[in-house]
Formats: sequence, structure tokens, C-alpha cells
Amino acid sequence: MDLETIREVVTARERADLTGLGTGSAVLAGGTWLYSEPQDDLERLVDITGLGWTPVGWNDAGLEIAATCTLAELADASYPARWPATRLFGQACGALVASHKIRRVATVGGNVCLALPAGAVLAALTALGGSALVWGAGGDEWIPLHRFVVGAGETVLGAGEVLRAVRIPEPNLRSRTALRKIALSPTGRSGAVVMGRLDRSGLLTLTLSAATTRPVVLEFPDVPTAGELSATLAEIHPGLWFDDPHGAPDWRRHVTAVLAAEVTAELSGARP
Ligand SMILES: Cc1cc2nc3c(=O)[nH]c(=O)nc-3n(C[C@H](O)[C@H](O)[C@H](O)COP(=O)(O)OP(=O)(O)OC[C@H]3O[C@@H](n4cnc5c(N)ncnc54)[C@H](O)[C@@H]3O)c2cc1C
Repeated sequence: MDLETIREVVTARERADLTGLGTGSAVLAGGTWLYSEPQDDLERLVDITGLGWTPVGWNDAGLEIAATCTLAELADASYPARWPATRLFGQACGALVASHKIRRVATVGGNVCLALPAGAVLAALTALGGSALVWGAGGDEWIPLHRFVVGAGETVLGAGEVLRAVRIPEPNLRSRTALRKIALSPTGRSGAVVMGRLDRSGLLTLTLSAATTRPVVLEFPDVPTAGELSATLAEIHPGLWFDDPHGAPDWRRHVTAVLAAEVTAELSGARP
């Protein structure tokens, strides 16, 4: 849609071009959300796709994904075979209710910064223990993704701050992973998504999303028993269960428990 309040769209070519960001202006990445509804408080957009960041790069320390990497680039990259956890990227992109056209332009940074409960790419990066590199006026800061989102549509980003990249440590990429998703209708937006990661030390991490206002990460030193799993889920604060037309909080809490048990069974080798 046309954004009638926008007076200027600037294409950033270098970091200095980001300094004018603040009240009344916003980062423009793929624009799939920005152009989907009125942005009455904005009059200036700064397009960061002209900064020329390499979409995905890796070395012995792990994987670095640029904020401007598109969902298609994330899902389709040829990752080293020793990193089975990267299959979560394709699964997460598939969990989004979006066409191929959207996947080709929507960015990883946009999905993370939008911080929607149904942000499956955000959830996958959180499940893999990712950290966000944030560029601010006061310098650069690494923030673990499980602390980056504080509520539905809310992040710790301050005015003018830009997400530059997400980094995933190498050992986490060697983990085994599993994903389960449910929606109220076959092509509907996710009502609950659970992603599990079993690392080589035996630590099992479950990341809950879509059902909760922000990604919730649960850690177990070993594969939990059914009783341990339900006791941990019961401790989740009632206010964290999300309520919108894609699912009531009590339904979301119930199906999350079912999906978490299935993910745990798959990772422990038992048939789900
Ligand atoms: C048909 C359709 C279906 C969708 N389905 C889903 C879905 O199932 N789940 C979901 O989570 N989303 C969904 N979306 C929303 C959105 O398209 C995606 O979240 C997408 O990944 C956003 O990326 P983008 O690059 O287009 O972001 P943009 O629209 O460009 O930006 C989104 C927001 O993030 C900010 N931003 C972007 N990049 C940065 C950065 N690097 N630093 C700081 N701020 C930044 C922008 O200022 C803006 O506020 C859908 C959208 C459409 C149109």
C-alpha cells in the first residue's frame, strides 16, 4: 500500500547513513510488513538493503546471518553437512504464512525486529542460541536473542538502533533439532510452535513460540520425563500465553504441552 505520510526514502550505503534514524523515521528492510499497514507516525524510511551485507557467512566459530538476509536465502543456503541444526531454518520459513514472493524479500532482521509471536525465524534463531549484534549511537552490543524480545511486538531496541546480524555458535549447529507446529486451520497463522535442540552434552532446550507473547526458552540438563516436562510448563506465567483470533490462551497452553512432548520424544529417539 502507499504510505501517505512518508516524505523521504533514503538508501543507506554506509553506516554513517544510519545516524539520522530516530523519532519519525524507521529502518526499511524487505518492507513486507512496513507497506502492509498505515505508518502514520513515520515520515522517513532508511533502506538498509543497499548496505551490501553478505547474507550468510560462516567460519570455525559458527554462523553469521546478516539482518538483510532474506528468508529464502536463509532457507536455501548450502550449509556444511556437519551442521544438521540448520535444517531448522527451512522448517521455520515454512511455518510462516507467507508466499514465495514474500519469502524472497522479507528479511531475517525484519522478522526478528517485528517480534511477532508468530515470528518463526526469530524463534529458530533463539532456539539455536543466537545473539543479536545491535548497532547504536553509543557503539555495538551483542544481546542474546532470548533477551531481545520482551513482549508481542516489543524488543529492547532503542530509538535509532539497528540490528546488524545474528550469530550462532558452532557447537549449537551440531545439535539435533525437531519442530512441531499447529494452527486452527490448515493454512492459518501458527497457534503454537515448539522447537527443540539436543546438544552433544545432552542438554535439551525447548523454545516455545506463537503460543506465547515472546519466545520462551526452557532448558533441561537431560531429556525430561513427562512429569518434569509438564511441571516446567505449568510454571510459565499465565500472562505469557498469547490471545488473538489465531488461538485462545488455554488452547495454546494445552497444544504447546502436546507439541513439547512430541519434540522431546523425537529428540530422545522414542517414536513421537
Ligand atoms: C502475507 C504476509 C504474511 C506474513 N506472515 C508472517 C508470519 O507468519 N509470521 C511473522 O512473524 N511475520 C509475518 N509477516 C510479517 C513480515 O512480513 C515478516 O515478519 C518479515 O520477516 C518482515 O521482514 P521485512 O524485511 O519485510 O521487514 P520490514 O517490513 O522492512 O520491517 C519490519 C519492522 O522491522 C524494522 N526493522 C527491519 N529490519 C530492521 C533492522 N535490521 N534493524 C532494526 N529494525 C528493523 C522495521 O523498521 C519495521 O518496523 C507476514 C507478512 C505478510 C505480508
